[in-house]
Amino acid sequence: MKIAILSRNPSLYSTRRLVEEGLNRGHEVRVVDVLHCYMNITSAKPSIHYHGETLDGFDVVIPRIGASVTFYGTAVLRQFEMMGVFPMNESVAISRSRDKLRSLQLLARKGVGMPVTGFANKPDNVPELIKMVGGAPVVIKLLQGTQGIGVVLAETRKAAESVIEAFMGLKADILVQEFVKEAGGADIRCFVIGDKVIAAMKRQALEGEFRSNLHRGGTASLVRISPEERRTAVAAAKAMGLNVAGVDLLRSSRGPLVMEVNSSPGLEGIENATGKNVAGLILNWIEKNQKPHKTRTKGTG
Ligand code: ADP
Repeated sequence: MKIAILSRNPSLYSTRRLVEEGLNRGHEVRVVDVLHCYMNITSAKPSIHYHGETLDGFDVVIPRIGASVTFYGTAVLRQFEMMGVFPMNESVAISRSRDKLRSLQLLARKGVGMPVTGFANKPDNVPELIKMVGGAPVVIKLLQGTQGIGVVLAETRKAAESVIEAFMGLKADILVQEFVKEAGGADIRCFVIGDKVIAAMKRQALEGEFRSNLHRGGTASLVRISPEERRTAVAAAKAMGLNVAGVDLLRSSRGPLVMEVNSSPGLEGIENATGKNVAGLILNWIEKNQKPHKTRTKGTG
């Protein structure tokens, strides 16, 4: 197969591993920086141009699109799809998962467990919003945040009101969420491929911190997950329409709660914590499922 990996940086661990496993299996692999692609979108024969050449003849495209280039990255991926190239994850699924609010609404519709979450636009009834999610302590999240930045724990009602009013005053979009205390500063990253969780790790926050992001000093370790956690992670990936996803769960007293579904989950943390060849498993899944892409005209939200 001829495989394009959409990545801004060929030296990133995840990109390198996918290249390595692709080459090991005898495929032709090319790393393409989406920001250097330009496209003719009006032509009946869609094309992608890159440093003066036309990119064609690809069978598969593996998107590794960073949050900061979602808009242009998904446009380039869509162009590959229009050319009939099989995407590991579809552009529409990536766009869905990048919007925290839209994701949570879709998960709710599919009956996937999640922390009680509220959303509002105007600060006219902040105390009511806090009450609606069960009262303080609450977690307040900037919709645009990643890697734990813009995720705040407000321990008291007063603190919650001040933070919400401040964010709203800055015209930032936020979610207000029940604080799942019993998770103990840990979350579970389930790596889903197709309809299976192929690896899982527990991320534990530093002492005194509730955010377990590795970028915030959290540590990762191998974890056994329950059948209910497996089912929840697979259902969450499916609700987004993602074939490959990192689903983050909190262990709560009422079962697993999905916090986020990541469409470009990193490979370094999970391969190191579990010792599994996750990149190889992704390539195996692609080899089994690859077929020419048909662009759908009707969406599912
Ligand atoms: P980001 O997308 O920026 O990583 P998350 O929503 O994943 O933001 O939150 C970062 C971390 O904060 C999570 O990994 C988790 O450890 C913790 N956290 C987030 N929401 C909650 C919550 N409602 N209750 C308890 N802990 C939470």
